Amino acid sequence: MPPYDAVRDDVIRLLSRLVAIDSVNPSLVPGGAGEAAIAAAVVEWARDAGLDADVLEATPGRPSVVVRARGGGGGRTLLLCGHTDTVGVEGMDAPHGPHVDGDRLIGRGAYDMKAGLVAALLACREAAVLDLAGDVVVAAVADEEHASLGVQEVLRTVRADAAIVTEPTELEVVVAHKGFAWLEVEVTGRAAHGSRPHLGVDAIVKAGPVLVAVGELDAALGARTHPLLGRGSIHASLIEGGSERSSYPARCVVGVERRTLPGETAAEVEAELAGLLDRCRAADPELRAEQRTLLVREPFEVDADAEVVATLRAAAAGVLGASPAVGGASYWADAAFIAAAGIPTVMLGPGGEGAHAAVEWVSVDDTVAVTRALVATAARLCA
Ligand SMILES: [Zn+2]
Repeated sequence: MPPYDAVRDDVIRLLSRLVAIDSVNPSLVPGGAGEAAIAAAVVEWARDAGLDADVLEATPGRPSVVVRARGGGGGRTLLLCGHTDTVGVEGMDAPHGPHVDGDRLIGRGAYDMKAGLVAALLACREAAVLDLAGDVVVAAVADEEHASLGVQEVLRTVRADAAIVTEPTELEVVVAHKGFAWLEVEVTGRAAHGSRPHLGVDAIVKAGPVLVAVGELDAALGARTHPLLGRGSIHASLIEGGSERSSYPARCVVGVERRTLPGETAAEVEAELAGLLDRCRAADPELRAEQRTLLVREPFEVDADAEVVATLRAAAAGVLGASPAVGGASYWADAAFIAAAGIPTVMLGPGGEGAHAAVEWVSVDDTVAVTRALVATAARLCA
């Protein structure tokens, strides 16, 4: 186990270096810097540390990096995964001017999730000198905050026997997170001059009962809960329709988001919305509405008794002095993609605050603890 002070210095040095690099996701914020500069820094750090580093860049300007500590052969491969992109920096004073205040390292991306990535990279470097049989691989992936291009690209080439995603979990071992589905309902009316009501069908008014039904469905979803994640939900997140006050609108589009629990599939969510629209049509035979599915991200759940979970918990207990809590995350993460590829996956990351907010900080001590827990896990899984 590497000494605490040495790891702390390394965490502050590498995390400051990565936070200083603008890596705002350009799909979220037009003109955002993207991941090219931070990927180059990860490659340089890895090669300086004597590790292999490969760049994957199927989408130009959106590279991911695969860093590998090669084992002697015959052992199992542990994948550690963290994303390099961040959300935007609106309202922040010095988003890319990292500074340390006591236990806090402050700056955009420090918490979500450059600290987790730093823990993974430092653990990989430590694993390289442990004489392990298996490989420890770090995937520093692009675009988690938007379409997860990076992790999907990595999973086309990287094989692993277990994975740990180091998103911030407040030192909980996270074994489940919700999924989500973005759908929309288009209600069709008939355009007409506002003075000629006998010719017009108001698509916005016709959408009213659909919105009421969405609220009722959300209330009904509260009846089913997951022990770690609570309830699923549905809400209307966007509405669009009409062109001026003096006309009957021909079209109204309602965007909805459904947050799903493990076991709830995309097909079920689509059928649920179709049933909702059928009930609205039964009440109003003139309603013309159709639904579309825009994006589906699956929920994630791993058996709490899975080996990677038990090993990580035992390793973290050795570092923290007590067994960490097992919990669920309300947010979605790349863990779902990795688990869907057949790799038993769990999440552990540091505490902090302000993922997507104007002041973002991460606990340096927690990041050290995660680093040491990852090294101990690798030592057991990849022996
Ligand atoms: Zn994140």
